[in-house]
Amino acid sequence: MEKTQLNQAPSEANNGENPVLSQEPVNFIQEIINKDRETGKHGGRVHTRFPPEPNGYLHIGHAKAICLDFGIAAKNGGLCNLRFDDTNPSKEDIEYVESIKEDIRWLGFDWGDRLYFASDYYETMYQCAEELINKGKAYVCDLSPEQIKEYRGTLTEPGKESPYRNRSVAENLDLFRRMRNGEFPDGSRTLRAKIDMASPNINMRDPVIYRILRATHHRTGDKWCIYPMYDFAHPISDALEGITHSLCTLEFEDHRPLYDWVLDNLSFKSRPQQIEFARLNLTHTLMSKRKLLELVKQGAVNGWDDPRMPTISGIRRRGYTPESIRVFCERIGVAKSNSVVDIALLEHCVREDLNQKAPRAMVVLRPLKVIIDNYPDDLVEEFEAEINPENPELGARKVPFSKVLYIERDDFAENPPKGFFRLAPGREIRLKYAYYIKCERVVKDETGEIIELHCTYDPASRGGWTNDGRKVRGTSHWVSAAHAVDVEVRLYDHLFREEVPGPDSVVDPDSLVTLAGCKAEPGLAGALPGDRFQFLRQGYFCVDKDSAPGKLVFNRTVSLKDSWSGKQK
Ligand code: ATP
Ligand code: MG
Repeated sequence: MEKTQLNQAPSEANNGENPVLSQEPVNFIQEIINKDRETGKHGGRVHTRFPPEPNGYLHIGHAKAICLDFGIAAKNGGLCNLRFDDTNPSKEDIEYVESIKEDIRWLGFDWGDRLYFASDYYETMYQCAEELINKGKAYVCDLSPEQIKEYRGTLTEPGKESPYRNRSVAENLDLFRRMRNGEFPDGSRTLRAKIDMASPNINMRDPVIYRILRATHHRTGDKWCIYPMYDFAHPISDALEGITHSLCTLEFEDHRPLYDWVLDNLSFKSRPQQIEFARLNLTHTLMSKRKLLELVKQGAVNGWDDPRMPTISGIRRRGYTPESIRVFCERIGVAKSNSVVDIALLEHCVREDLNQKAPRAMVVLRPLKVIIDNYPDDLVEEFEAEINPENPELGARKVPFSKVLYIERDDFAENPPKGFFRLAPGREIRLKYAYYIKCERVVKDETGEIIELHCTYDPASRGGWTNDGRKVRGTSHWVSAAHAVDVEVRLYDHLFREEVPGPDSVVDPDSLVTLAGCKAEPGLAGALPGDRFQFLRQGYFCVDKDSAPGKLVFNRTVSLKDSWSGKQK
């Protein structure tokens, strides 16, 4: 797989054309649609569908498909259906149906009253199968699954015809009806399309279109004991819904001749067209419902919505905004060859969005106590701090300051290395919005661990500056001890350390770090699950659903350091 960075901003993607004059780049799917609309194909209509199989939670790859399916319909004055592709009852569940609907809505898309299920069309699909049998285009085959595989041939060798291939129409009809009636055991017979066992495309070598399977379906219950295969069900569903452009990922390219064959051999008024695009892959991430399900089952993560998961529910819980995901999907664009997108681009997109939206707060993650010896014991001052410097009209909040404070442990070094500009014995730093303080004395416990610092403050530096031209290089955030709210903070790293995880990759044990006893400014006390903040110097955070009254838990969405911007220079 080619590794590329499909990150160009629209203007850069235009081969140096004047970015002001050039228009939004037109992807190859839009080009096809433009042509179709010009020639009046599909009567000028654009109607797409998003067809998830309810066998797991959606992931960010699906977000790309959702943005494309719903987005391209909207851009062209068309419609997009939500259709559950529920033809595999043993793997599917109503829990997944509900989560998928919630995720699509959260992303900001709406299917209106066009919610469909492939299972709603089972009767029609069955009739279509009989139609093929009547036309001599399908037959009941008694080969076992292993034999079918054996007869199929390979990429270099043609397949062998099934000995059941030339059954009469009457015999086929009779057997197929009896399949439906439950007269034969699971796996004992199939219905196969009669196409070409010598086709260079293995998908065309008499593919199975119906199988016998006794499994309770989450919608049709035990009504059916035969189920259509995806390649048969999908084109029929598309045609029934009047879909014009059926967008799917590249692995279906080799199935397109079969998609077309099914429609060519059935009599539908409408004729959808399948178009394939490259699936999204992200570095440090696995993107397959099957593999994600394994992680959940093994307990390698804490459920589908673990904030480290690339699922939409995980990403949402982590604190991503739907807007940032839509912008990400816009930026990666749509291409015809597979590639791996750098996860740093996704992180960049959410930073950009949250920088505008997230109110600021001071939270000390790893607290170190600071006592200001020359500050009056009972005095509490309130300092004004901006809510969001990107958005000055939001105004300011008030932050209390008193004699005992917390700063980050990292903001102090007893023996500062070269280039360390924060607090050290005898050195002065600025406490953001408040005062300059100077470290006078370090107090350690019997193990030698530093437990508190004694400092002095300069009353002339009120507000965090002086007019004597004094240079103070370090600025720290802080929280007043008497006013602090204790919170839990969860820091995340990529789920997999490997840039491109392989089958043996395991979840990085350091991908979750939980910090208890973090100290937050009092204004955060009323925060509710889903609320997002920028913690000064620490990143963007979101209140987790594990929070309860008196117990706030924050997820770090992303740190502030933008590795994407760095890579672009
Ligand atoms: P997975 O391989 O993760 O299990 P899937 O293809 O089986 O995914 P479906 O529920 O069948 O999942 O997918 C619904 C739609 O989403 C399909 O049109 C599929 O092509 C598209 N899709 C799935 N994965 C990606 C991806 N990584 N990037 C873009 N589109 C995707
Ligand atoms: Mg699939």
